Amino acid sequence: MQFKDIIGQESLKNKLINSVKENRISHAQLFIGKGSVGKLALAYAYAQYINCTDKKNDDSCGVCSSCRKYAAMSHPDLFFSYPVNTNATSTSKATETSVKKDPVSADFLVDWKKYLDEVKGYPDLFQWYQRIGIENKQGFISKEEGRNVIHQMQYKTVEAKYKVLIVWMVEKMQELTSNILLKMIEEPPENTLIFLIAEEKEKLLPTILSRVQQLYVPPIENEKLTSFLLTQHQSLTENQLSEIANLAGGDVFKANEIISNSTEIRENFDLFVEWMRLCYKKGSLDGIKTWVEKISKFGREKQKSFLNYTLRMVRESLLLNYGDKSLVRVLHNEEQFLSKFSPFIHLRNAILIQERVNMAIYEIERNAHSANLFADLSLKMSTYLKLDATAR
Ligand SMILES: [Zn+2]
Repeated sequence: MQFKDIIGQESLKNKLINSVKENRISHAQLFIGKGSVGKLALAYAYAQYINCTDKKNDDSCGVCSSCRKYAAMSHPDLFFSYPVNTNATSTSKATETSVKKDPVSADFLVDWKKYLDEVKGYPDLFQWYQRIGIENKQGFISKEEGRNVIHQMQYKTVEAKYKVLIVWMVEKMQELTSNILLKMIEEPPENTLIFLIAEEKEKLLPTILSRVQQLYVPPIENEKLTSFLLTQHQSLTENQLSEIANLAGGDVFKANEIISNSTEIRENFDLFVEWMRLCYKKGSLDGIKTWVEKISKFGREKQKSFLNYTLRMVRESLLLNYGDKSLVRVLHNEEQFLSKFSPFIHLRNAILIQERVNMAIYEIERNAHSANLFADLSLKMSTYLKLDATAR
C-alpha cells in the first residue's frame, strides 16, 4: 500500500513522510480515529515507505523488492495482530479456516490477507468477523497471541531495515496481552516499529497511551471521499455522492454501505410501484405475467428483500393513515408514491396483505416455485387492494 492509495488525509501523509525525511520515526505509534477513515492504510503505507529502498519525495517507489513484498503482504519483516475467535461451529461459508480453540491471528492469516486486499486497506470490524465466521461472538487479541508476537519480534530482521508490527483494534486486547505489549514498547527489540490502530482511546490502558506517539486520524474530507466514490460508482452523480459522503461522516465503509442499501431500495421501489399499479388496474393480466416473469428470475434473497420492502410500504401507509406521521421514514420518491397509494391501505386489508406476504417469505425460504408463488400473490393483492375498509 502506497500513500497514493490513501483517500484524502494529505496533512497526515505529509507529517509521516517528513518524520522519515527528518529521521525521527518514533518506534511506537498509535493511529486513532473512528471508523474506516484510513488508519490501517496509513500505518501500512508508512511502514512500506520507511522500508522502501528507493524512496521518492512523496511516496514509496512501488517497485523495489521491499515494496513488492509489502504490496503482496508477504514481507518477512511485516507482522500483523488482529482480533479473532474460534469459528469451528460457524455455518459461515466465507472461510475454510476452522479454529476450535486458542485462536490467534496466525490461524487466520490467509483470510486476513485476502480481506485486506479486497477492502484496499480499509477494514471494518464487523465485516471482518463475518469473513471469519465469528459474527455472533466478540473477537479478541489473546495472551497466546501476545506471546507469539514477542517470539516473532525477538529475531533480527530478515532483510528490511525495520521489522514492523501492525496491531489492528488494540482495544480488543485482553489485559494480559496489553501488558505483554507494554513491555515490548518499553524495551523494544532492535530495529522494531510498533504501529497500533484503535478506534476508542478510552478503552486503552493509560500506561500504553503515555508511551506511544498518538496520531489522530480524522474523517476523510468530503471532497476527497466524493471523488473516490465517483471512481467506484459511475451511476451516481457527484452531488448524490457528496451527500452520501457527508451522511457517512467521512467513513468509506459506511459510504459504500449506504450506496448498496440505496440501490436495493431504489430497485425494490420501482418494482413495488409497478406491481401495485398492475394489481389495481383492471385487465392487466398480461402485465402481471411479465412482472412475475421478471421477479421469478431474481435470486431468493432478492425476492425476500422485495417482500420485506412490501411489508414496510404497507406499514408506512398505515402510519400515514392512522398513526403518527412523524414516525414515517421514507425517501423522497417513496413519499410521493405513498401519498397516492396509502388511501388504498386500511386495517382490514393490511392484515390480510401482511399475512399473505409473510407466508410467501416462509415459502421462498423453503424453495417454493417462485413463478407460481408470485402469480398467486399478485391475484390476492389485486383482491385485497379493492377491499372496502368497512365492509364485512
Ligand atoms: Zn520501494
